[in-house]
Amino acid sequence: MQQPTDKPESTTGTRICTTCPYCGVGCGVEAIHDGETVTSVAGDRDHPANFGRLCVKGSALHETLGRHGRLMAPQVDGREVDWDTALESVASRLATTRTEYGDSAVAAYLSGQLLTEDYYVANKLFKGFLGTPHLDTNSRLCMASAVAAYKRAFGADAVPCSYEDIEEAELVVLVGSNLAWNHPVLYQRLKVAKQRNPLLRVVVIDPRVTDTCEIADLYLGLKPGSDARLFSGLLTWMADKRRLDTVYLDKHTAGLDEALAAAREDDTRIEAIAADCDLDSEALETFFYWFASQLHVVTLYSQGINQSTSGTDKCNAIINCHLAGGKLGLPGAGPFSITGQPNAMGGREVGGLANQLAAHMDYHTPGAIERVTRFWSTGDLTPRLPEGPGHKAVELFNAVESGAIQAVWIMATNPAVSLPDANRVRAALAKCPLVIVSDCMADTDLMDYADIVLPATSWSEKDGTVTNSERRISRQRGMLPPPGEARHDWWIMVEVAKRLGFGAAFPYTHPGEIFDEHARLSGFENTGEGSRLFDISGLAGMDRAAYDALTPIQWPVNRVAPLGTVRLFEDGRFATPTGHAALVPVRPRAPEQALSAARPLRLNTGRVRDQWHTMTRTARAPRLMNHRAEPFIEVSPADAAALGVSDQQLACLTSRTGEYCGRVRLSKGQRRGEVFIPIHWTDRFSMAARTGGLLEAHIDSLSGQPEAKHGAVSLAPMSVGWEATLLVAESLRCDTDWQEGNRYWTRIPLGHCQRLQLAGGEPGERRDWLAWVEELLPVSPSLWCDDPASGRLRAAGIEDGRLCWWLMVAPPCELPGMNWLDDRFADAQAGERLDENQRRRLLAGCESGEADNGPLVCSCHQVGQKVIVDAIREGDTSVEALGARLACGTQCGSCVPELKSLIEEESTHAHSATTPETEVA
Ligand code: SF4
Repeated sequence: MQQPTDKPESTTGTRICTTCPYCGVGCGVEAIHDGETVTSVAGDRDHPANFGRLCVKGSALHETLGRHGRLMAPQVDGREVDWDTALESVASRLATTRTEYGDSAVAAYLSGQLLTEDYYVANKLFKGFLGTPHLDTNSRLCMASAVAAYKRAFGADAVPCSYEDIEEAELVVLVGSNLAWNHPVLYQRLKVAKQRNPLLRVVVIDPRVTDTCEIADLYLGLKPGSDARLFSGLLTWMADKRRLDTVYLDKHTAGLDEALAAAREDDTRIEAIAADCDLDSEALETFFYWFASQLHVVTLYSQGINQSTSGTDKCNAIINCHLAGGKLGLPGAGPFSITGQPNAMGGREVGGLANQLAAHMDYHTPGAIERVTRFWSTGDLTPRLPEGPGHKAVELFNAVESGAIQAVWIMATNPAVSLPDANRVRAALAKCPLVIVSDCMADTDLMDYADIVLPATSWSEKDGTVTNSERRISRQRGMLPPPGEARHDWWIMVEVAKRLGFGAAFPYTHPGEIFDEHARLSGFENTGEGSRLFDISGLAGMDRAAYDALTPIQWPVNRVAPLGTVRLFEDGRFATPTGHAALVPVRPRAPEQALSAARPLRLNTGRVRDQWHTMTRTARAPRLMNHRAEPFIEVSPADAAALGVSDQQLACLTSRTGEYCGRVRLSKGQRRGEVFIPIHWTDRFSMAARTGGLLEAHIDSLSGQPEAKHGAVSLAPMSVGWEATLLVAESLRCDTDWQEGNRYWTRIPLGHCQRLQLAGGEPGERRDWLAWVEELLPVSPSLWCDDPASGRLRAAGIEDGRLCWWLMVAPPCELPGMNWLDDRFADAQAGERLDENQRRRLLAGCESGEADNGPLVCSCHQVGQKVIVDAIREGDTSVEALGARLACGTQCGSCVPELKSLIEEESTHAHSATTPETEVA
């Protein structure tokens, strides 16, 4: 974590305050740019989300920029065209589709990576003027269950808490959240709060032991999917032990009896609840006791709760317990959903979900359709709003498959990778007559299906606002001119609207004008009975300078709260017609993806520490790639032994819908019968490592959120004849397809070359490697060293004294460190020739003095596992001592749990190595 005292490395250039485009923490960033590029970044010390901290992804933001790989020009049917042609094509094809098939044959699929202004224009264009309700977003995959649950309980999609509540709590319960990896700055805030207040307890409830458990006073490794049973059990336990806040319940809530009756349909004895959740009953009761006896409790939950076919019920089971104990509307208390993406909240605010209309009004909100119609009417132009909700993400692509939707515009997201049953989504897109893709990157899996491709701006160019998980609106400020022909998403849609004849309703020339309209709509007729909580009318009417200078502020912002609102429901009044919050009856349900003899393993999915989504941006920073370079499968040692797979071996997972191949990582944090895989790899990075392809498309019937945490798979080792590593200079073009003939491949971008990890053949089989590279690459082998007996080989291609490629045939565990090899490619780029010593080293496969550091642990200071283990063995047996010697763990802090595990592992080894046999006996 960049600490608050750190400053951007560069001291010259213009300093701009903006936001990090990755997770929902929404950290403020101070970026230095010199007009050409962003030269450095640091945490913004004045931003209330992070107070100067940044995690490793945020602090590498400037390393992910540049023109390489960017989409530079519009394309229509595979041909580069000018903007006018592209926009005419979009407008005329959308118009033709509506004429032939009706308004509802047109759809949009958006992203929590868009800015609020982009979202607003999209929502207005599609729902207001194209007349289709089918506009949804990838935020559906992230937090739709949390939205549905808040609406059921509070009458509005309103996150009641602030980050400072986490610091002011006496108990923080983390459920289905690996905060340390997915929201690292928030995790660091909690960790510091705990150090300052030793009475603050942390409970982690998660099937996996993750790095977040580092600060847990109590860890409950529950059975996947049993969260609703656990929290319903907590509700009955509180009732039975007379721990309900009856005054609060009477005054401010309704539905307790029904919620309790539903919870009592299951056995309410602690032993029975523990058995259903596969937990120790004493540990479970300890948690119940802690929860019931503290008033200042924050329960923080994320995708582990939401991504379930009963996600909404799980969220409501949590909220029920907070309402029953009066644990919200107070400092340090509340049920707190943390979003994954930077602007999932902004999308919710404008109405960017298919079941919403606009500005926190749903279709069924009394008077909403008529009100929004009046607001959006301009001169003679009257919008034609749909009468009811549209298709949610999975349903939307089902409608594409059935032909009900004939045209879909996809912005800043990749449903061909991230949706469940993604192979079916691909087939649907392949036959869809019109697929329009707006993106900032040129080469993604989705581009294979695009008829029209529109180059959009990216982080350092975008200008507008985002809202983070605590309702805080921040300005994202553009710094650099867009490369090539890239344009802002809102501008692209405005130009299409003009060509469709809706120009008068889309007169915007600057994002500030869009924000102003958004703010005015939020306050439009928003008083008295039925008023909406989302109200930022206090931000309407800003001129350009005020908009540019806007400082972070939490909604509502209006006449009553001109400086924003830290915490909701402090007066116990909710946004329901009665003003009472609702406790919701919940019946626990098992996951829909059923385990069977053929698919006996429960599949869990999630992010890794140093990557974001489909790696289009984070893979551009080599230091972020090094933490987990290849797709992997985490398996418990017991399962691995039973299934005949070993650590670092290649293996495949198979489900009803697809296959996933990766490298096995043995993990003692993994429960038996369960495996975990990361969500990031696409066909651009690996042969068969798309998580979406493995998951069946079951959704929560209330929220539409897919069940991404409960797949059903089998696992088998992949037995191969050989494994090889090929490094190829960026400039070298292959003559044939290097992917062919492999049973596994992964591409890992390094600083100055591409690393290709290959495996194939049957056991005992060999490839004629020299002939293979001769055919593959335009530069013939110049040096090689072949050992046919062992199957090992090292070779290099050198042209004009410069390294063009390097090959090593051997298991990856024998690979040397990559830094010195990447340096040789850097030398080649700089025109430097190899000397004799360097040639010998290439053949030997090692550099004199270059230690093989092992897998990367500390991304900030590039410290590998082997170096850390050596230091521990030499006596540095604390995180502080390792930091003092190697600097690991001293910047972002994300690797501290991993350092602690290594220290623990080494001390266990040392102890067992020195324990006399007689003692063991
Ligand atoms: S915690 Fe999230 S928002 Fe903050 S720097 Fe890291 S990725 Fe960016």
